[in-house]
Amino acid sequence: MGEPVVTIHPDAPKGDAEFQQKLEQFKALLSGAEELHALAMHEAGHEFYYRQMGITGFDYYGPSAGPGENDFFGASIDPTSWTDDFIHLESLTRIHLAARANTAGGSVTKFVVKRSDRGNHGDFKGFVAASSLVLSDHKLTLDLRAVWNKAEIETDREVRRLATKEKIKKIAVRIKPLLFTWLE
Ligand SMILES: [Zn+2]
Repeated sequence: MGEPVVTIHPDAPKGDAEFQQKLEQFKALLSGAEELHALAMHEAGHEFYYRQMGITGFDYYGPSAGPGENDFFGASIDPTSWTDDFIHLESLTRIHLAARANTAGGSVTKFVVKRSDRGNHGDFKGFVAASSLVLSDHKLTLDLRAVWNKAEIETDREVRRLATKEKIKKIAVRIKPLLFTWLE
């Protein structure tokens, strides 16, 4: 197993001692198999629910660091292709399903991997940013925090079901070498 590969953001303060220290700590964390399993499971939770929406392809990104102090991410995935059913989803349905896909990572982290921190701060921000665009396009208003909370209750419950858990684990095994390229 090689050394963890971390993509440094172009605007990251590379010369800063504090940043370098944080980066070293991050790399040390990423050297543990348990951490990589936890991160892959989190992303697999997202993917499982994205696929339910009709998303069929993804780009996979490994760990990245900076530019801000809180901008260290273990991994992320980005939808790249989808079915016609996805395209034709009604806006509010789409937002509700997107909320589930975004809360699912944290639900898996908390209830399957059993960590106290859901690690989904960025997921909430991403969900609000994307959904706000859909809402303003359609001149709609919606309490996105309430939608998020409702979705979280649902995914918290569902990811604990054995059949769902097994499917998410299978995805995690498949995507691990895509996220953490140094494992190969
Ligand atoms: Zn996430």
